[in-house]
Amino acid sequence: MKFHVVGSGISGSAAARLLADAGHHVEIWETRSQTGGNCHDERINGVTVHRYGPHLFHTNDRAVWEFLSRFTAWTDYRHKVMADTALGRISIPYSKVTERQIGHALTDEEIRDLIFAEYSEKQWGVPWKELPAAITGRVPTRRDNDDDRYFTDEFQGQPACGYAAMFSNMLDGIPVRLGVNPDEWRRHRKPGDRVIYTGKIDDYFDCVHGPLPYRSLRFEHEWSPDRLPHPVINQCNRLPYTRIYDHAWFSGETPPHTLVTREYPLAHEAGNDPYYPVPFGDGMAIYQKYRALATAEMGTVFLGRLATYSYLDMWMAVAQAFSKLRPFLPMQQTTKNP
Ligand code: UDP
Repeated sequence: MKFHVVGSGISGSAAARLLADAGHHVEIWETRSQTGGNCHDERINGVTVHRYGPHLFHTNDRAVWEFLSRFTAWTDYRHKVMADTALGRISIPYSKVTERQIGHALTDEEIRDLIFAEYSEKQWGVPWKELPAAITGRVPTRRDNDDDRYFTDEFQGQPACGYAAMFSNMLDGIPVRLGVNPDEWRRHRKPGDRVIYTGKIDDYFDCVHGPLPYRSLRFEHEWSPDRLPHPVINQCNRLPYTRIYDHAWFSGETPPHTLVTREYPLAHEAGNDPYYPVPFGDGMAIYQKYRALATAEMGTVFLGRLATYSYLDMWMAVAQAFSKLRPFLPMQQTTKNP
């Protein structure tokens, strides 16, 4: 069977590999000049730069871990995040470590006000109270132990040679058309061909129900002779950016300089990239209309953050590819997944 895979981020690339391994004829259509979507990283001045924001891999799903481990070795990086708050710089999520840094225990409400309220308002453009559990539940309010890692998953690490190398290995032998127009694949689709679509779902349907809201990011980069003392420092305060980070931490490199980036959230519009779906307010209602169209669309599988309008982590995107492509794969490739 012939599959056109639209987009080569983690969803499209995982799908392409699974389908090619199953003996299907796969061709990838990518508008950017490189694969990897927003996971893409690149070496600049001796530093591995996360061009589209920090990507830290973690999962409890052994099958996802084993699948990606075919394409990369992993470092033993364990992600830790500090936050600049009204009570000073503290470790998050709130744990016993945080409690000692502050000098006393906080109630759940105090934690929310300190860590989540201002950050979320900047990130999503709405008050914390209006956010659904799908977003607020991503970061635990409190941890009653000394674990100061950001993620507690069993499998964690960074691709030893970077994400770009991992994607290049994953796509080995699969034809990729880079730098194409967003609709190029439509001209090449023949009757009977299948499509794996990972772009914005509203674009797929020519925005017939109006544009879906997405949040975007603007990055301010600065080369610095000084390393930051922590990989990521969240700004739970009134500064206009949400976090500042030092790229060299993620790869464990020790260059004589580093790239420091400040991240500013903003609404997605023509000219910037969509990063996050906005699954509350109008967003969800509009998405339901596109979802109904998608369900009736024969021959296309919608995958990933933009096409399923959900806040997927990297591992979730791979697990979703396993599960949604099951009808096209031999049994043993997906049996271990949900
Ligand atoms: N969040 C927050 N303060 C923080 C960290 C996270 O309020 O210091 C909230 C915020 O709403 C954010 C969500 O939790 O969008 C998820 O955070 P996560 O670190 O998973 O965001 P990502 O790295 O995916 O942008």
